[in-house]
Amino acid sequence: MHNTLSRSTAFHPPAACAWPVWESSVGLTGTADSKLVWFFWGGPPTPPVPQTRGEARAGEVAPPSADTFQSRHRRRPAGRADSRPSPGAPGQSSAGTAAVTAGGRERGPEGESPRSCLSLGPMDRSAGACGALEGSSIGSQKDRVVTEEEWLQKWQTGNIGFHKEQGHPLLQQYLDVLLNGRSGLRVFFPLCGKAVEMKWLADMGHSVVGVEVSEQALKEFFVEHSLPYCEEPVPEIPGAKKLQSVSANISLYCCSIYDLSSSVVGKFDGVWDRGALVAVNPCDRQRYVSLMITLMQKNSSYLLVTVSYDPNKHKGPPFYVPESEIKSLFGNHCEIKCLEKVDDFSDKHRKWGLDYFLEVLYILKFVA
Ligand code: SAH
Repeated sequence: MHNTLSRSTAFHPPAACAWPVWESSVGLTGTADSKLVWFFWGGPPTPPVPQTRGEARAGEVAPPSADTFQSRHRRRPAGRADSRPSPGAPGQSSAGTAAVTAGGRERGPEGESPRSCLSLGPMDRSAGACGALEGSSIGSQKDRVVTEEEWLQKWQTGNIGFHKEQGHPLLQQYLDVLLNGRSGLRVFFPLCGKAVEMKWLADMGHSVVGVEVSEQALKEFFVEHSLPYCEEPVPEIPGAKKLQSVSANISLYCCSIYDLSSSVVGKFDGVWDRGALVAVNPCDRQRYVSLMITLMQKNSSYLLVTVSYDPNKHKGPPFYVPESEIKSLFGNHCEIKCLEKVDDFSDKHRKWGLDYFLEVLYILKFVA
C-alpha cells in the first residue's frame, strides 16, 4: 500500500471545532432483480423467521439518517418480529429479527437492490460450509494495487457507489452477534468512509473509532449527521488528524490504517469490517490483518463482510476474498463462523461483467 497522502487542506489548530452547515447526499445505484441464497451456520441464537424485509416499508421513503436503524425496527408490522427485542436497545437480543424471505423477492432496506432470501435453516457450523460458489484463486487480482490517491479521487468525484446511505442490513440483522450481550463497547470501523453505521452504534451508547484516508469522507460524515466535531493533530502520526464529535463518542482518524497502532487508538471490543478487508490491496492483506489482530481485545467480536464473485471478470475493488484466505489470515487467532451469504447481484455488477455477486458475512471471535 502506498502511504503517501496528498492532503490539500491545511490543518486547523488543535481542537478546532466545526459545526456542520451544509448537506450532501450521494445516490445509490443498483436496481436489478436478484435471487438470494441464504446460508445459516449458527450465528444468531434464534432461527430466522420468514418475512419480507422490505414489506414493512412499502411505499415509504426512509430518511437518510442514523435514526433509520432503530425506527425501522419500531415500524416492523405486527405478526412478524415485533415481539422480539429491538436491536436498538443495547444488550438485548435482536439477532432473531434477521429478515428472511422464503423464495420471495423484496426491496433492500437501502431502497437500492431487491434482495430476496431463501432460508435453508441451520446447517454445518464450520466456516468451510460456506464454500458454495467459492473458488480459492483470486486470479490476477493478487497484483492489483489501488493507491490512496485513487481513493481520494473517488471521493472528490463522487464515485462512491460503495457508500450505503441507509446503512447495511447485515449489521442490523447481526448486531447482537457483534454485541454479544455487552454494552458500552469500543467499536472499530477500519476504512470507514462515511459509514452511517458509526452513528447507529454511537447512538446506542457505544464508543466508535474509525480510520479513513479521505478527510472529505470524514467531514461529510459529521455534516450529514449534523454532528458538531473538533479536529486536532495526532502527535504520534505526522500529517494525521483526529476528527472527534463534540460528544466525544465518535473519533475518526484521517490517515492510513497502516499508521495506526494500539498505542494510538487502544484496543477494541468489536469491529464492523464492511468494505475494508475487501478494499485493501490483496498484497496488503496480511499486513492489514496482522494490524487488526493487535487492535483486538481478547474475546472481542469482529463482523466481517466479504464479497464473492468471479475475480477473472472484474478487477476490483471490492476484491474477492476466498474463505480459505479468511481462514489462513485469521485462523490462528480467531474462531471463524460464516453466518450468511446474500445474493447482492444488481445491474452494477452485470455492467462489471459478472453473473453473480454475493456478500458473505463472518463472525470472528478473538480467542488469543
Ligand atoms: N467501510 C466504508 C467504506 C468502504 S470503501 C463503507 O462501508 O462504506 C473503502 C474506503 O477505504 C474508502 O473510503 C477509502 O478512501 C478508504 N481507504 C482506502 N485505503 C485506505 C487506507 N490505507 N487507510 C484508510 N482508509 C483507506
